[in-house]
Amino acid sequence: MFIEYDTFCLRANALVLRIAELCQLAGRSPSEVTLLPVTKNHPAAAAEYAARYGLNAVGENRVQEAIDKIGLTPPALRWELIGHLQSNKAKLAATHFSRIQSVDSEKLLAALNRSAGELGKKLPVLLQINAGRDPAKFGVEPTEAPRLLEYALHQPHLQVDGLMTIAPLSDDADVARRTFANLRGIRDELAGRFGRPLAELSMGMSSDLAAAIAEGSTLVRVGTALYGPRE
Ligand SMILES: *Cc1c(COP(=O)(O)O)cnc(C)c1O
Repeated sequence: MFIEYDTFCLRANALVLRIAELCQLAGRSPSEVTLLPVTKNHPAAAAEYAARYGLNAVGENRVQEAIDKIGLTPPALRWELIGHLQSNKAKLAATHFSRIQSVDSEKLLAALNRSAGELGKKLPVLLQINAGRDPAKFGVEPTEAPRLLEYALHQPHLQVDGLMTIAPLSDDADVARRTFANLRGIRDELAGRFGRPLAELSMGMSSDLAAAIAEGSTLVRVGTALYGPRE
């Protein structure tokens, strides 16, 4: 059985407090870090809870799973795609998501740009960088990031908000910390070189939140700490 809303509230309150504490430790303002609940593998109620709590966006990994839930949840709630996307689903993703965080190829950029143009919208995206050089993760290699960004900036129907990464699974907390520091360094370099702020740094999940906030995350994607383990 899925958790009750009361349980969600307690966990969300604790998480908001923890994020504020971590921001304080890092000398940052809590307003700099957005909490994105990740509702994948959970029922539509997970997204409805987030909306009721006052959070205005949720993250999903799969296009079809999100579409199935969108009709069952408040229309004002925004959906962000955080899972791998194939170019042949670009139109569907551009239609239903308010931002795509997992953009990792020129082919996908071109397909999203075309779809956004057809839909008459400017679609916000993040470029996914494999900042931990983990063979098990999607995202472009750091050395490929400048080329991908240059291509993205030439797409008139896309708006590049920043970068996203997933840290390698590891028992060593330093691995996540180094991955996030690396992403921030890549962002700083690209921002200088291309004259764009690339303000959004989507990094950090339930288990590596502290390292992410210490290294400058502006958006943490949290599933387990809010909803419990996934089936
Ligand atoms: C599932 C997922 C999350 C959330 O992970 P938790 O460990 O449950 O907090 C965050 N980001 C991405 C890309 C995910 O796939």
